[in-house]
Amino acid sequence: MAALLWCSDPHVEDCVAVLRSSRLALKKKRGMLKRYNLIPDDPLFPIAVRKTLMPKKQGSTIKIAGAGPSGLTSAICLAKAGYAVEVFEARREVGGRFIGDFQVIENMSMDEDVLKMLKRIGLSNNFFIRPVSQGLFYDHRLRPQEVKSRRPFGYFIRRGTQGDTLDRGLLDQALAAGATIHYKARIKPEEADIVASGPSSPDGLAKQITFTTSLPETVWVLFDMDISPGAYSYLFVLDGQATFGCAITQDFDHINDYFDRALKRFQKIAFFPIDEEKTGYSFMNFSLKPSAKIDHRLFVGEAGGFQDYLFGLGIRYALTTGFVAAESIITKRNYDHLWKEAIGTAQETSLINRFLYERGGNRGLSEFVRRAGLGDVQDYLSGWYAWRLWKRLMLPLIKWSWREKKRCFHSLPDHWCRKKITAASLPQLGPVEQNPGESSE
Ligand SMILES: Cc1cc2nc3c(=O)[nH]c(=O)nc-3n(C[C@H](O)[C@H](O)[C@H](O)COP(=O)(O)OP(=O)(O)OC[C@H]3O[C@@H](n4cnc5c(N)ncnc54)[C@H](O)[C@@H]3O)c2cc1C
Repeated sequence: MAALLWCSDPHVEDCVAVLRSSRLALKKKRGMLKRYNLIPDDPLFPIAVRKTLMPKKQGSTIKIAGAGPSGLTSAICLAKAGYAVEVFEARREVGGRFIGDFQVIENMSMDEDVLKMLKRIGLSNNFFIRPVSQGLFYDHRLRPQEVKSRRPFGYFIRRGTQGDTLDRGLLDQALAAGATIHYKARIKPEEADIVASGPSSPDGLAKQITFTTSLPETVWVLFDMDISPGAYSYLFVLDGQATFGCAITQDFDHINDYFDRALKRFQKIAFFPIDEEKTGYSFMNFSLKPSAKIDHRLFVGEAGGFQDYLFGLGIRYALTTGFVAAESIITKRNYDHLWKEAIGTAQETSLINRFLYERGGNRGLSEFVRRAGLGDVQDYLSGWYAWRLWKRLMLPLIKWSWREKKRCFHSLPDHWCRKKITAASLPQLGPVEQNPGESSE
């Protein structure tokens, strides 16, 4: 038992197996699972045992800046491992950057299924989560292509301040594990051990609305460079709740025009009235870097520029980097090695994919849409992330041609980021009108 308690890598399967067969009384095991909000196979269970039996280390409080998915994941893992954790959140609630919108945790850039990943990193599904394995993709001529997959190509979750959002679910898990959250508490990166403060520089910009509707379940994505330059527009309807959005990576000054045009296009497919909508703006960060640390500080999620750049999807990266940052503190392993092992290649591949996506223009996107419908769409999209020699050779050329030479606002001093197409005067970020006095990030 003693060897188990001091197991150096608590995520090793053997360690958990030994523990399960250990002579620790069943009642005590159950008590620990409940106390630390663990699921029975939770890889963090051995750490919970250590936390219960060993006196807490003095002076080991971990400060986290930001209570988004990345910061809360770190908080949950560290608190479960016995660390005193304080999370500082600039807004008055978690999820305040979002409007109850549906977002997708992608299930294509890595082999491991999202549900397995959540379990592996010790998170429970106490939030709305629903697999998505079919939808309609449209090209610029509004030609529909039905797409289907055996395995889900993503999982819908909701973002915002309400009860069943990812943000609230993670908050509940962090509190149950013993973390403390301070609201309306903006701290400087220098004051934090983990910097999880989200995007700071616009590499992509989106405008979204949410509303109630009588439309049936809908997953529509429109790929049209004239309507959403560099990105796409989408309509998701689940259980009578709709999210419509327009994302762009160029010409940020005209986001409202693009949004209006995209909405008109979708209403050509099927007219839908929009009642009691909520509106929000937000941007996304992407950068490549040799290190996501400054001194002892670990940058996670979009604060570290972690994102899938092809589709601007960052939640999977936020959860993963939040987890490996905690793992690095607990096991004293190098954070840079851990995140590179987990997502380094996928992130680089996403830059190459984005280059191909933009270079193809509307003709390329039509072909993309057509091929997505030919077979299993999850297989097709996963294929984009396969790491091939020709992609490896392209990477330095793309980095060279797209490099930003001017000053940017990304958090890490030593990084690669993309040349900005326009100097935009960004709209007020976050929900519109709901919280008029609130500052943007
Ligand atoms: C419109 C839109 C749609 C999106 N859709 C998807 C999608 O479908 N799928 C997907 O995977 N990704 C999507 N993304 C991206 C995804 O939302 C982000 O990648 C993800 O939220 C990043 O998590 P994070 O923890 O790094 O940052 P955030 O979620 O931004 O959390 C950061 C938190 O830190 C707080 N904060 C900021 N500065 C400070 C400070 N100094 N001190 C204390 N607190 C601070 C903020 O208030 C915020 O709560 C979308 C993004 C946008 C904008």
